[in-house]
Amino acid sequence: MKAAILAEYDSTLSRPQFVSYQDVPDPKITGGSDVIVRIGGAGVCRTDLHIVEGLWRDRVRIKLPYIMGHENAGWVEAVGESVQSVKVGDPVICHPLLSRADTLAARRGNDMHAGGAFPGIDSNGGYAEFLKTSERALVKLPQTLAPKDVAPYADAGLTAYHAAKKAAAILTPADCVVVIGVGGLGHIGVQVLKALSAATIIAVDRSEVALNLASESGADRVVKADGGEVDQVLALTDGLGAQAVIDFVGEGDSVKNGLQMTRNAGCYYIVGYGGKVEISTMDMIVSEKSIVGNLVGTYPDLVELMALANRGLVKLATQEYRLADANLALHDLKNGRIKGRAVLIP
Ligand code: ZN
Repeated sequence: MKAAILAEYDSTLSRPQFVSYQDVPDPKITGGSDVIVRIGGAGVCRTDLHIVEGLWRDRVRIKLPYIMGHENAGWVEAVGESVQSVKVGDPVICHPLLSRADTLAARRGNDMHAGGAFPGIDSNGGYAEFLKTSERALVKLPQTLAPKDVAPYADAGLTAYHAAKKAAAILTPADCVVVIGVGGLGHIGVQVLKALSAATIIAVDRSEVALNLASESGADRVVKADGGEVDQVLALTDGLGAQAVIDFVGEGDSVKNGLQMTRNAGCYYIVGYGGKVEISTMDMIVSEKSIVGNLVGTYPDLVELMALANRGLVKLATQEYRLADANLALHDLKNGRIKGRAVLIP
């Protein structure tokens, strides 16, 4: 098959070619629950740029050369002998983690903490014609959703859904929720909040383009992050702050600001990463704020998100590239030239 192969790290992201488009052996069924998916689309994620930089080298075991791509959807091409829930030809989206069914975390539905392989991160992913995954990871798509249009939901959408659903559970119609950062994930987060909650949604971003996207996605108020964003959010919330703040940035000033925008006894959800949380233990007890981490999402989260997408309640802006043009897509992402999410199509 054809695939875009990462053979070398590039810590400064300065090479014109990050990956090379070449022939590699097809993945093979080796276990009873294995499924080979013919890729219809693979989302291009900022995490992929971090992989190229070598940032993930010490976190997970990656052996180069390998194939990136953890946001995958397509059609079932072949199944192992014990597979029952999907058949050849079914359109599917792939939960990114091949979680181990026999763990307590998996039995509790906590897929991200159930171990197992993470194709595209620690093993071959979907920047290719075919991907080896497992039956447990697959969600069958309704006929209304084409794989190439939904692939980025497998991670970007799922992560946004996971955090927004947690927030929606504590929000009442009298509350406000703040979304910091309205990019590829944040614009899905706003739509999910709109679908699951009647709280007032306040979007915060530095860019006018992002704030327009926030309004189109359902934000009730937008606040420009120009240094005065904390005061503006406080002014919109009777000086108290919002019951829930979802931070899709997670670095720079957004962490300190996000905590300040969170009202006492409210929740601050971290999705974007790179920064540090600093708060005194005394402030924690006096304010009773909760700080909540978010890692991708569960299998049920992905099923629920596909239900929202199927009903048109969540829409994803995508920009399509041929798999052979993976380098162009990665460079466009690096240079901020992508509206929504880039998708590679073999
Ligand atoms: Zn991703």
